[in-house]
Order: sequence, then C-alpha cells, then structure tokens
Amino acid sequence: MSPVTYVRAPSATEAVRMGSEPGVRLLGGGTNLVDLMRKGVEAPSGLIDVTALADRVEQADDGGLVIGAPTRNSVVAAHPLIRTRYPMLSRAILAGASAQVRNMATVGGNLMQRTRCLYFNDAAGSRCNKRVPGSGCDAIGGSNRYHAIIGGSAACVATHPSDMCVALAALDARVRIAGPNGVRTVQLVDFHRLPGDRPDIETVLDHAEMIVAIELPAPLKALHSGYRKVRDRASYAFALVSVAAGLSMQDGRVRDVRVAFGGIAPKPWRAIRIEEALRGIPLVPETTAAAIEAEFAEAALLPGNAFKRELAKRTLTAMLNELAGDDA
Ligand SMILES: Cc1cc2nc3c(=O)[nH]c(=O)nc-3n(C[C@H](O)[C@H](O)[C@H](O)COP(=O)(O)OP(=O)(O)OC[C@H]3O[C@@H](n4cnc5c(N)ncnc54)[C@H](O)[C@@H]3O)c2cc1C
Repeated sequence: MSPVTYVRAPSATEAVRMGSEPGVRLLGGGTNLVDLMRKGVEAPSGLIDVTALADRVEQADDGGLVIGAPTRNSVVAAHPLIRTRYPMLSRAILAGASAQVRNMATVGGNLMQRTRCLYFNDAAGSRCNKRVPGSGCDAIGGSNRYHAIIGGSAACVATHPSDMCVALAALDARVRIAGPNGVRTVQLVDFHRLPGDRPDIETVLDHAEMIVAIELPAPLKALHSGYRKVRDRASYAFALVSVAAGLSMQDGRVRDVRVAFGGIAPKPWRAIRIEEALRGIPLVPETTAAAIEAEFAEAALLPGNAFKRELAKRTLTAMLNELAGDDA
C-alpha cells in the first residue's frame, strides 16, 4: 500500500473543501474503502475522515426523518423511530454484513460502497471496465452467479451490493449532497447510475461533493412492509435476490404498493412497472405474475444467473401474499 495522509474533517464545509483535492477520498467506517486499498483496487493519496460530523437521526418538519451520513448502520437499524415507522429499513440493514461491520459502517459509505464482483475486486489478474475503463469484462463470460439480470450493459453486469439502499429506494428516500456551490437533493433512485459504456461512473456525485444526509419522507399510513433477502448462506453473505416491499389494501384492492429489488441490477431497482400494474386491483395470482413478468421483460440472463428471474418472482409473490395477509 502506498503512503496515505489522514485528516479528520471538523465540519462538512471543510470536508468538501479538503475532499475536492485530486486523489483524496472521504472515509466513513473504512469497511469497504480500506479493504479495496489493501487489494490495490483503490489508491487514494489522502483520506478525509467524516465520521465526526453530524451522525444523528432527527425528525423533519414534514413528518419524515433526516439521517446524518456518518450515522453508523447499527445506530440507524436500532433507532426507535426507524424501527417503528420504517421497519423495512431496519430489517434491510440487519440483513447485511455482521454486527461488527454494521457498528463501523456509515450510511454515506453504504450508498457509495463498490460492487462485490469478483473480477472488479481482483486487481492483479482480471479485466474489469469498472476498475480500468476499456479493459474488458471477465464476468460476462465467466462466473456470473451474483451478477445483474436487468440494467446491465455489454461493458458491465456488476450488481450494487447494498441492502439498505433497496429499502431506501422503496421508501422514496432522498440524498442530501453538499458541494462547493451549496446543497442539493436527489432522489435515491436517481443517485446510482446504470453502467452503459461508463461503468466506472457509478453515481451522480461529483468528486468535490459529499453526502451529508438521507431524507425519509413521512411514512405512508397502514402500509405493511418487509425485507427479504435470499443468499447462499444464512448470514454474512450478499444477496442473490432481495426484495423490499410495502402493501396496503382497501376493500379487497391494492391501495398502495412499493417494490424494490436488490441483487439483480447495478443499482437498487425500484419496480415501478409492478407497482403501477397492481395499484387499484385485487391481488390475485394471475395479475401479480403478469405484473412481475412485465418488469423482467427486458431481463438479459447469463448462464450463471438465469435462475434469478424466477427467484425474484417467487420471492416477491411470497412477500406480497404475506403482507396482504397482515392486512386481512
Ligand atoms: C465482510 C463484509 C460483508 C458485508 N456484507 C454486506 C451486506 O450483506 N449488505 C450490505 O449492504 N453491505 C454489506 N457490507 C458492506 C458494508 O455495509 C459497507 O462496507 C459499508 O456500508 C461501507 O460503509 P463505510 O462507512 O465503512 O464506508 P467506507 O469504506 O469508509 O467508504 C466507502 C465509500 O464511501 C465513500 N464515502 C464515505 N462516506 C461518504 C460521504 N459522506 N459522502 C460521499 N462519499 C462517502 C468513501 O469515499 C468510499 O468510496 C459488507 C462489508 C463487509 C466488509
């Protein structure tokens, strides 16, 4: 590892000023960035530690919550307002990593964590367009069990690994970003980019910007929700498929439904087509199946990951049935 400077940012303004220097990176809990530095995938010249900044969960005037970007994943998952008003988010965070990792990992770092694609993480021996633009992709003809079936491109089929972001996508969360020109807000579903021919550009964040907070809108009333993660091991494994879903029924019809998938796309995948198809109608197997088929109509299946389409369909169907039962 090359020598690297380390500074603790005293304020968000200073973090933005120091973080805009070329080669410098922000540091949250270090659970992803430091690993990547050890592997030679990332080589920053300096680290700006942002964990001393506002690490709080606060009530917002609109009835929602604001979660400071340096807040640790374990603090968010255990917070009483998150557990009671946004249980899907708490469950998604607890489905990820281990207690030790969650105690270190921050919300900002979770959004910005890099893919777990084997080839991206193998700087010594594999081709990867995300790591070295234009070098090729060894995943497409290689081991692609964990890779994307939707939203990928000829350049990259890596998935975004976060569980937390899948729940945030379903909850209509917004990302508050600070930069040299002030503060702006983007919807979480627009924060991560699809790879296209530039898989190395993963988000809409400029180098000189930082995430300062996540904004959660007021929770929808009477929405039953959950998070289900299917993985190769019962714990400490990334998702093959995960689903964050919320459902409320009225007079036997779907009043509102929220669906987002993890493990199947390069970004947390909000399933708008499924939501639009199901809103206002009774939840019956034929219409549910048709809505899910439509969402995956353009799925690009690889030999190692073709099973994910059926797995996603079955996981969501089971969840919706369960949530509808809660409403009965
Ligand atoms: C063994 C293991 C298993 C895991 N399993 C899961 C899992 O199952 N599910 C899951 O969701 N996650 C999992 N994780 C990932 C873990 O949640 C992430 O490593 C973590 O969320 C990253 O947070 P961090 O604060 O440590 O980020 P860091 O490693 O400090 O930083 C990650 C990236 O975020 C950037 N960054 C940090 N803060 C900010 C900010 N405020 N603004 C802009 N950029 C910022 C950094 O510059 C860096 O590029 C696992 C991790 C490990 C090590």
